[in-house]
Amino acid sequence: MEGEREMWKAQGIDLKRNDEFLEAAGKIYGDVYMKQPNRPKGMGFFDFVMSEVHSIRPKEMIDHREKGGKVVGTFCVYVPDEIIFAANGIGVGLCCGSDFSFIDAEDILPTNLCPLIKSGMGFKKGMLSPYFEACDFIVGETTCDGKKKVWEIFDNYIPTYIMEVPQKKDPKQRELWLKEVELFKEKMEKESGVTITPEVLGEKIKLINARRKALERLYELRKSSPLPISGKDALLVSQIAFYDDPVRFTSKTNELCDELEERVKNGEGVVEPTAPRILVSGCPMVIPNWKLHHIVETSGAIVACEETCTGTRYFDTPIVDETPTDIDGQLKAIADRYLNIKCSCFTPNDDRIDQIIKFARDYRADGVIYYTLQFCLTYNVEYEKVKRALNKEGIPLLRIETDYSEEDTGQLKTRIEGFLERIS
Ligand code: SF4
Ligand code: SF4
Repeated sequence: MEGEREMWKAQGIDLKRNDEFLEAAGKIYGDVYMKQPNRPKGMGFFDFVMSEVHSIRPKEMIDHREKGGKVVGTFCVYVPDEIIFAANGIGVGLCCGSDFSFIDAEDILPTNLCPLIKSGMGFKKGMLSPYFEACDFIVGETTCDGKKKVWEIFDNYIPTYIMEVPQKKDPKQRELWLKEVELFKEKMEKESGVTITPEVLGEKIKLINARRKALERLYELRKSSPLPISGKDALLVSQIAFYDDPVRFTSKTNELCDELEERVKNGEGVVEPTAPRILVSGCPMVIPNWKLHHIVETSGAIVACEETCTGTRYFDTPIVDETPTDIDGQLKAIADRYLNIKCSCFTPNDDRIDQIIKFARDYRADGVIYYTLQFCLTYNVEYEKVKRALNKEGIPLLRIETDYSEEDTGQLKTRIEGFLERIS
């Protein structure tokens, strides 16, 4: 305890507010997670990671820097971790899921901005996150307008590099994206002083692919009935993937999957097989944002899958091709894989809509909840196309637009219960 306080102090963390945040987050975690019946034993590791959320991993990052490595913060699943790790770096997802830090952001950002962006800015500006303070620099991207512009402000607080993510997927844009991936490799080499060799990049491609395969295995198990794991627990595993050490994370997720496989074999579930199954589709949900899952799963239903960046979009495009053995081929394989991600920032984005329908079938969903964060224009506008397509397929759909506050919890619960009655 004393050691971690010393670490936070040296990082310049606001200790009083850090204590307040950890206390509040710990209470939410206890209420949301620890009261679930029949949890898999393998979730013990993830509970432990959460109990030490501001301690163990930030310490590992600081140690890594002391040994000469780099720590790089990211905010989007388009930024290739393979390249960061190949340059002796650690990549850490810095998106934030709490309104605790809004007060720190709202004097420099508009109030009517996506909560995910505001939260991240607030955690940095208010010196509230040991993860931010462990980073050498952050990597932003030109995805949505809010993020695109906020990087210019972030640069006042921490060095910020920006990757240009195109808005279309035609051959010209693919070329641009490949160039961006090549430039990012150069940036990482310059920052780290490490020349990325094909041997090391090949190893790191396998490392990150292994993490994807472990998550894919977890999600495959969620296609079973009864469900061997709650949606809340599966979401937590995905969220932790963004910052934990990839080797440890992969091993612990595979251990969890071994246990879940036994459960599936024995027909053991966390709820009755008759509980309505929900596919959640839309914006990412970042720690400690468990609001929607908690409402669904305390209303008699269960979340079977998330078509989000803290769900399938993180792993469910083919893994990076491991066959190229030269740098050019490897970078092209990386660029190709990442450009397959189906974010609403792209136009057209019909592949995403086909995928939602496929997931609804594969995960045997009784209904889809389309989840958007307030002021997220691209996911909000894309709803209209999703609605038409799902209506045509006869898949029940409920739209939820919310933020990080608890103020609308009662109203959301009423709407979700009404939806569940309709689909049961
Ligand atoms: S929703 Fe889009 S912009 Fe946000 S993290 Fe996912 S890919 Fe990136
Ligand atoms: S949720 Fe939407 S508005 Fe918010 S950062 Fe992601 S894409 Fe941008």
